[in-house]
Amino acid sequence: MASARYYDGKVAIAREVGVRAGSHELIITDVAGTAVLARWPAAEIGVLGDTEHEKAPPLVRRGEEARLVIEDGELRRQLAHAMPMLAALAKPRSRAVPRIALFGATLAAAVGFFWLAIDVGSSTIAPYVPYDLQHRLGAGVAGELIGQQPLCQGRAGLAAVSGLANRLAEAAGYPHPIEVRVVKGGPVNAFALPGGIMVLYSDLIDRARSGNEVAGVMAHEIGHVVHYHSIKGLARQFGIDQLLKAMTGGFSDLGTIGQGGSLLLALRNGRAFERDADATGVELLEKLGLRADGVASFFERMLENHHGDVAGMIGIWSSHPPTAERIKATRRPSSGKPAFTDAEWTAVRNVCK
Ligand SMILES: [Zn+2]
Repeated sequence: MASARYYDGKVAIAREVGVRAGSHELIITDVAGTAVLARWPAAEIGVLGDTEHEKAPPLVRRGEEARLVIEDGELRRQLAHAMPMLAALAKPRSRAVPRIALFGATLAAAVGFFWLAIDVGSSTIAPYVPYDLQHRLGAGVAGELIGQQPLCQGRAGLAAVSGLANRLAEAAGYPHPIEVRVVKGGPVNAFALPGGIMVLYSDLIDRARSGNEVAGVMAHEIGHVVHYHSIKGLARQFGIDQLLKAMTGGFSDLGTIGQGGSLLLALRNGRAFERDADATGVELLEKLGLRADGVASFFERMLENHHGDVAGMIGIWSSHPPTAERIKATRRPSSGKPAFTDAEWTAVRNVCK
């Protein structure tokens, strides 16, 4: 009986497989258990996705795009028991973790808590990673993702998007400034990175029918920022210790977009994160008395858009739930003030000119 699905990272088709724990590795076989398809060394395996909400968070081998989803609950428990690094697969998660993390963070303020944090759990501790390190990491990742594409310099347009982004973050109680970078060109996308960095592509602005649609997408990304989703994703993919090395030493430790796509994988938000960001986004717009119907109308028009390129794997298109479901969840009345004044919206549309 098949109990797991395996994506080899090359073909977008899941294969039903058998899985068993070896002494120092995870062995992925065909369903019959006779042919070995892959062997993943224990030290290289990570649990991706939201382990608190997702029933079967995918396993990854670090540095590879291959994924393994174990649907069989009993098998998940067995593996979690057999291999310590898979402990997150076992349910239920301990309720004591958040309290320990808070205690750890307080203590850490005095002793430099990073080494403590490693033991507590990457997802919980991620928000406590010192902000300047988060920002340094975010800036590094932004550089990787943006590559050679030029950044737009229109002052009034940047002031308008930055003003809105910061008002939204402030309404959420986020204690740090938001830095918006507008990239000239495509894809039609936006994403949030550690350290309050938001990347917005001008193709998205061009495709939006109104400022409220851009505001809706931005509010969604602010939702990711205030929940620290990107640093959590990176911590989960690479481990806090490896992230620390990347932040203090060389960013290249994390690999590049082109090599294995592990950065993209880490930044890909799971179902629960997308739902949280959607909900938080519209909530923040409403809190500021702004029109909150933009994200649903934008999603609606983009429903048929298919993004097969790598950049399309992350950002607003990385959702697992069908977009129709997200449209329904984010639909709001057209009441409220426009997010941008007419003059601001004109400036935003001309930000790259
Ligand atoms: Zn998102």
